Amino acid sequence: MNCANCGTPLPDNAKFCLTCGRPVTAATGAPAAPAAAAAPQKVNCPGCGAPLVPVFGEMVITCDYCGGVVALGGGGWKEINKHTMLTPKIVDAKGALAVVQQFLDVGMFHRHAFEESTIAEQNLSFVPFWVIPASASTSYLYQDLAVGIGGTVASIAGAELLGAALGGGRRGGFLPIPVMTGPPVNPTRNETLQGTYEYPVVAVKGMTDYQPKSYEFPMKERTFFDKKSIPAGAPILNGDLGEDAAQHAAKSYVGQLQSDLAHKKHHMVSQIQSQVEVSEGELVHVPIWYILLDRKGQKSMLLVDSHASRVIPTFVPS
Ligand SMILES: [Zn+2]
Ligand SMILES: [Zn+2]
Repeated sequence: MNCANCGTPLPDNAKFCLTCGRPVTAATGAPAAPAAAAAPQKVNCPGCGAPLVPVFGEMVITCDYCGGVVALGGGGWKEINKHTMLTPKIVDAKGALAVVQQFLDVGMFHRHAFEESTIAEQNLSFVPFWVIPASASTSYLYQDLAVGIGGTVASIAGAELLGAALGGGRRGGFLPIPVMTGPPVNPTRNETLQGTYEYPVVAVKGMTDYQPKSYEFPMKERTFFDKKSIPAGAPILNGDLGEDAAQHAAKSYVGQLQSDLAHKKHHMVSQIQSQVEVSEGELVHVPIWYILLDRKGQKSMLLVDSHASRVIPTFVPS
């Protein structure tokens, strides 16, 4: 089967195109039955019909049998067609620890941290993230110090040159030097920063402390979710954060990043305003190693993206 829109080859059971995002209509031509506004306690898997029993608070459930996903939104439980995954490249704890060790060895403050630590916990799980496309436009004012100082220097130099020239020509005579005050150089400038993101918001509220910061998953390498790609024993986590909440969170995280960028680029930033637009997200299960290190009683958690083999920077520093 090929995508009717862009021609990308897709597996027969694909529900949307990985390249252009267009939904694929089922070969039978029968449109999916609209999700009934069922009581939130009970829902059947739209893929295989198995009953799914949400634990209290759960809003994103993956079917144990077929890997289908339902999420609770304003209109009740709804099938999530855009469900993808990143495949694990590090499947053993040793590999994950090597990534952590390398990360700690590079950091100035972590010297010998790894050697002095014991590993309190290490486990691989598939964590659901809402990846929210966002585009941001941030405008702000800043003080352009270069222009301010440059302007002053230029006018002093100009006055001195003028004085020298006139004084040289009329030696001995009194000459009022005309003070040439142009309009004052206003060093206040405005700037607009544009940015586009595929912002990952962790769908498990208990993991919000480990929310990635300035980190994007390599979405070009994602594949359709397939239970066969999950190593035995690695749990596939359900989520308790719906897409609406994820979009809301993405707006706020992106606003924060844009503000960080503005402050990195300029000094004395003021009146900063971000306009962040978000669109429909995608549910991606990402293989993540959680490594809990204990260094003389001080515990720190590090997250390793098992697909990209990198430690994920989080809002709460490791
Ligand atoms: Zn396509
Ligand atoms: Zn199912």
